[in-house]
Amino acid sequence: MLRKTRIFTPGPTPLLPAAQFAMAAADMHHRTPEFRAVYSRVLAGLKEFFDTSNDVIVFTSSGTGAMEAAVSNLTSPGEEVLVITAGKFGERWTKLCKVFGCKVTEVKAEYGQTPSLAEIKEKITSATRAVFMQATETSTGIRHDVPGVAALLKGTDTLLIVDAITGLGTTTLDAGSVDMLIGGSQKAFMIPPGLSFAAVSERAWQRMETSKQPRYYFDLRAERKVAKNGEAAFTPSVALICALDAALQYIGKMGNGSIGDGRKSLVANAEQCAYVTREAVAAAGLELFAPASPGAAVTAVKAPMGISSTDIVKKVKSEFGGIMADGQGDMKGQIFRIAHLGFFDYMDTIALLAALEHALVSLAPDRFRLGTMLPAAQRAFAEPAHQQTQPATLKQTHAEVSA
Ligand SMILES: *Cc1c(COP(=O)(O)O)cnc(C)c1O
Repeated sequence: MLRKTRIFTPGPTPLLPAAQFAMAAADMHHRTPEFRAVYSRVLAGLKEFFDTSNDVIVFTSSGTGAMEAAVSNLTSPGEEVLVITAGKFGERWTKLCKVFGCKVTEVKAEYGQTPSLAEIKEKITSATRAVFMQATETSTGIRHDVPGVAALLKGTDTLLIVDAITGLGTTTLDAGSVDMLIGGSQKAFMIPPGLSFAAVSERAWQRMETSKQPRYYFDLRAERKVAKNGEAAFTPSVALICALDAALQYIGKMGNGSIGDGRKSLVANAEQCAYVTREAVAAAGLELFAPASPGAAVTAVKAPMGISSTDIVKKVKSEFGGIMADGQGDMKGQIFRIAHLGFFDYMDTIALLAALEHALVSLAPDRFRLGTMLPAAQRAFAEPAHQQTQPATLKQTHAEVSA
């Protein structure tokens, strides 16, 4: 049988056809009126997508570049910072803060869980200069309580920095309560890796003036200065900016002309795909890895007893061309992850679930049987509450693509 490769990984995610065409056509110099028009439109569109009045800065880098920019622009060596960590990306904050000489206190939770607000509150002191966290921890599938942490910090001088690289477009976030909200292109934006984003508050711009960290390429102030004229400080990835322009236009169409409403549809879409997935895996007797607060970016599922998730991931890939993500680090072999962020729809989701069920039946015929997961997925999709939140159109027709 024919097997198409389809990615279900939480970044990179499937590409929007219109964005691919825009990339291929992006043959322009970055110091021209032509490019300035595109870049200015993209910067304005990102503000709408982030739902913020703060300036959004773009770097040509993977998401970690903006994470590093947060640390190098907003801290000083020897300062006390708090890292909320419950997975591989939380651990990245700790490493970055240590590299830049900060005194790191961690509030940790076991993989698959989140620290409670009480535990977080206990660790915040008047000396805490900044709190670093994820909106959604992609390695475990959990959603952190960003509004809860923002409320704890209200009225203090402590900055809140949120890696929302998989949170944007999958989670409702109040950008106004966050001092630096970070995104990455290869997640819900439906374009390839290579751009990172940061929405920066006025307080954070002020803090930058006192930071004693070295920084050059990732100097947010340098980017802000030239962005006003529709330029980037260095040579930006022109192709990716053009792809993002097309993606933001598409999201605007999803929202009948409003990028903000389009983002809401994208969030609802991810939530619905995640819900359908959770109901289907539960019907097969599988357990979620993060049952208490599962995010909509990715669903992490525990491998059934005695079966390695690596074998499940391999089987779905070799037999069906579906690429799921295995667990990262210590979680490899223990969990597999199915993404919902960006350009995924119901048809994608049920196709993957069908392939997954075939794989489980062939690995453990005595414990799984065909025809269990799909009916549960269909029932979940048909629930009236979820029907209402369904976006009008997510898939592009070929006519739209070539128009
Ligand atoms: C993908 C991701 C990142 C960024 O990783 P890069 O490989 O640098 O793009 C950071 N945080 C989270 C939560 C992610 O999912």
